[in-house]
Amino acid sequence: MSDPSPLSYRLRVHHRARHVRLRVTPHGELVITVPPGFDETALAPILARRADWIRDMQARQARQREADPHGGGLRPREIRLAAIDEHWQVHYRPGAARILHAMPQARTLRLAAEADDTAVGRALRQWLQRRARAVLPDWLAEVSAETGLRYRSVGIRGQRSRWGSCSARGHISLNRNLLFLPPDAVRYLLVHELCHTLHLNHSPAFWQAVARHQVDYRAQEACLREAATRLPLWVHAI
Ligand SMILES: [Zn+2]
Repeated sequence: MSDPSPLSYRLRVHHRARHVRLRVTPHGELVITVPPGFDETALAPILARRADWIRDMQARQARQREADPHGGGLRPREIRLAAIDEHWQVHYRPGAARILHAMPQARTLRLAAEADDTAVGRALRQWLQRRARAVLPDWLAEVSAETGLRYRSVGIRGQRSRWGSCSARGHISLNRNLLFLPPDAVRYLLVHELCHTLHLNHSPAFWQAVARHQVDYRAQEACLREAATRLPLWVHAI
């Protein structure tokens, strides 16, 4: 049985879209992508046909938000950066001068209560970016010195689908979300990218090089894959 109340949605026109695509975001919003020139009145029968699926997806996303181990999807109450053993409290205060004010001594973030979820998410991502930039390049330099594997430069980004990458010129790009992982998994990722300075592929020779510096690399690889599914909702833009 589908609920008779009308579904609300956000319409996105995409110039490369060939047909109508429905997606439910982690926040439960229905996003409909359509090709240019699409007649919106044609949506009604599509929505009627997919109504059960949409509500199932929204219910599933709601359950996931509740189960979010970081204590709240979009407006977290606490943030655990396992990689560097930091546990931050987040307070929402009305009338704050800035959207985000970090108090490192108290491991506390103060956020403006009036800011909407999008602004809160953006401010938290900027803060995480600064935290990652303060920590990950030095960590990479340490592992480089320890393993003797050299790289040219390092950058920090917020990639959606990868923890890191290494270019042919030896530029290593690291995902700021590595801060949510256990330290061993971060070290493994650093070793992995450094080994790409020797082999720009995942050949047997590459994995031999990885194994030389990180014996339990298979377990760590599984840890990275699993952790990617447990990141807090705010780490990516909606
Ligand atoms: Zn790789």
